[in-house]
Amino acid sequence: MEKVIFHIDMDAYFTSIEQLTNPFLKGKPVAVSGGPSTKSVIASCSYIAKNYGIKSGMSTYQALSLCPQLIIVSGNPEKYIETSKKIFEIIRSFKEEIEIYSIDEVFIDVTDIYEIYGKKENLAREIKDRIKKITGLTCSVGGGPNRLIAKIASSLSKPDGIKIIEAEYVESFMNNLPIEEIPGIGERIYKKLSDIGIEKCSDVKKVGQDFLTKIFGKLGMKIYNYGCGIEIPPLYIEYPEISIGHSYTFPSETDNFEIIEKTLFNLCEKVAERMRKKKKYGNFVLLFLRFEDFSSIVKRKKFNNIPPDGKIIFNLCIEIINSIIIDKKIRTIGISVGGLFYSSYPYIFNELIKRELLLDTMDRINEKFGENTIFPAILLNKQINRKTHSFYFWLFKNQKNKNFDIKKTSL
Ligand SMILES: [Mg+2]
Repeated sequence: MEKVIFHIDMDAYFTSIEQLTNPFLKGKPVAVSGGPSTKSVIASCSYIAKNYGIKSGMSTYQALSLCPQLIIVSGNPEKYIETSKKIFEIIRSFKEEIEIYSIDEVFIDVTDIYEIYGKKENLAREIKDRIKKITGLTCSVGGGPNRLIAKIASSLSKPDGIKIIEAEYVESFMNNLPIEEIPGIGERIYKKLSDIGIEKCSDVKKVGQDFLTKIFGKLGMKIYNYGCGIEIPPLYIEYPEISIGHSYTFPSETDNFEIIEKTLFNLCEKVAERMRKKKKYGNFVLLFLRFEDFSSIVKRKKFNNIPPDGKIIFNLCIEIINSIIIDKKIRTIGISVGGLFYSSYPYIFNELIKRELLLDTMDRINEKFGENTIFPAILLNKQINRKTHSFYFWLFKNQKNKNFDIKKTSL
């Protein structure tokens, strides 16, 4: 059976959220930037601003020179993250297993559910309507037999559109597609490609993979595969009941290890929380890293009887990270715990029973008062306030960007 993948992508995400909370911004050229200075960068802009040639990644100075009446709003990351959580929950109401690709993009395999809605388009419409009704925001939905086709389709349907590419039309669709529609091809790469006569996806077949690899290195292989319509690798593979995983794509690539550690810890906490809900232990940890040049590594390591404890999973991830060399900025980080098995027993060791009670209490507080009401101190952005927030915390030292030195401090 042919797979049906949807890519759901929010339209002008940050800007739309700002316009929603401030109606004065509606129908105007608006951009969200990292800060008020003209040196900051545009993170998102309205479609009216796009008409002036403004794009994400452009400096605010350049954007203002293209459109002097552009209204620049400073970004509110917390607000965007909160809205994303709502959106992900809405999408999960259609199917539990979703792949969160970035703060405003989700892949969902709808192969086994779309027929309930009659046509694929009907399901796409239903998803769009539900997101609009609850959040007030529009999104675009692309569908195809793999992630790549779905992602291209959603970007072509923007804004507020639906575009489904049926499997039998993929080849002709890809052959006629301009190369710049391929995800990850920015202006610089596009210019280089067009200089060597590559304008359409079908051109990559003519020049061949070896030629592209010679010019672009690893990226050349990616351009070739994507140009041929070959799948985007999944961020992590999550099979229900077999593994539980979470991933996060940074708004921009980072080598800030404090941010990476916190993100990793947060992912481990989320995985552990879901394991606890399902009363599962695991037998291996899988760590996924995607780098700034789109290369990626997946490391899987076996550990016996992994308890549903974020701190322990985090330490195992650190063990894996210490075994690899990271010399590039990280774009996406994902972890999953696999080889799951059911266990109604609390931790075997006495000292850990206390932690089990602690974690159970945390889960119940968060369930009652909302996600992140209580969380480990390591996740605090600023200084750690040990007296009021922390249950435990660690000190980290970054040794030549390779090793994490973990010193546990108990309170
Ligand atoms: Mg988007």
